[in-house]
Amino acid sequence: MTKESVILIVPCYNEEEVLPLFYEEFKKTAELLKEFDLQVFFVDDGSQDRTLALIRQMAEKDKRVRYISFSRNFGKEAAIYAGLKNADGDYVALMDADLQDPPSLLPKMLKAVREEGYDSAATRRVTRKGEPPIRSFFARCFYRLMNKISSTEIMDGARDYRLMTRKFKSAILEMSEYNRFSKGIFGWVGFKTKWIEFENVERIAGETKWSFFKLLRYSLEGIIGFSTAPLAMASVMGFTVCVVAFIFLVIILIKTLCFGDPVDGWPSMTCIILMLGGIQLLCIGILGMYLSKTYLETKKRPIYICSESNLEEEGEEKE
Ligand code: UDP
Ligand code: MG
Repeated sequence: MTKESVILIVPCYNEEEVLPLFYEEFKKTAELLKEFDLQVFFVDDGSQDRTLALIRQMAEKDKRVRYISFSRNFGKEAAIYAGLKNADGDYVALMDADLQDPPSLLPKMLKAVREEGYDSAATRRVTRKGEPPIRSFFARCFYRLMNKISSTEIMDGARDYRLMTRKFKSAILEMSEYNRFSKGIFGWVGFKTKWIEFENVERIAGETKWSFFKLLRYSLEGIIGFSTAPLAMASVMGFTVCVVAFIFLVIILIKTLCFGDPVDGWPSMTCIILMLGGIQLLCIGILGMYLSKTYLETKKRPIYICSESNLEEEGEEKE
């Protein structure tokens, strides 16, 4: 009987420090999960360090290692997409290279999809130990806001670490949008997901690739991708300003008719003009953000460009 295959998809961007450690951990996990054919699929996201060289070395020695390398840095979302598109296993799991996603959870995740009837097993960290407090604060605010304004549920503290069946994977690949926000996509496709909780683990070596502003941009991506509330907010704001202006007009009219019209009040006038100008610019900005996403979407650019992989070799061997 052939074993069921489980492929770990690992996006890597400048991870030369952690890759050897990850590989050791992979080998240990493969030993533990002997009843499966455990493989690893590295997606080199245009690293500038020795990441690709290390991956090539591993792939030469170990048949279980496959990889694809991008022509430049396309971002983690593109790497996830490329991994899902190319990894053809009975089960696939997304995992970070820095061992922040404990491989020890894999047996539990496999049990959930194989025996308990779930289509995917996802993980979320219940603590944010080791993270700057300000970052945790903004992350919490983001999840709270997101769940208020979007109908797609996005779990607080959810990691991208997730095991899924073929069915779940193909549903995700159906969503071939250019502006990708995986946390939202995973929720949007539905299916039964088991949530497994764990304590935050700090990165084993190297540094995080996410600066505060990168995260801020990422959260905006999420809001624009999975909610149209900001557009509605622009309309509501416009309507409110109109009502307030009308009330003011009536008050001023009555005042002028009853008490005459002394020419003063230019500071208040300036404030009103500035405020209205601000609101208008804000609304145009919101419109612009949606428009720019639509613009990028209509260009239908590829999500990633492959410069090298060892997938064809595998294919040739099979023939
Ligand atoms: N990553 C990537 N492309 C990028 C940034 C990150 O493929 O442009 C990968 C990175 O190599 C790692 C994972 O995404 O395997 C998570 O990155 P990181 O650990 O820096 O993020 P954090 O855990 O701090 O959220
Ligand atoms: Mg990390």
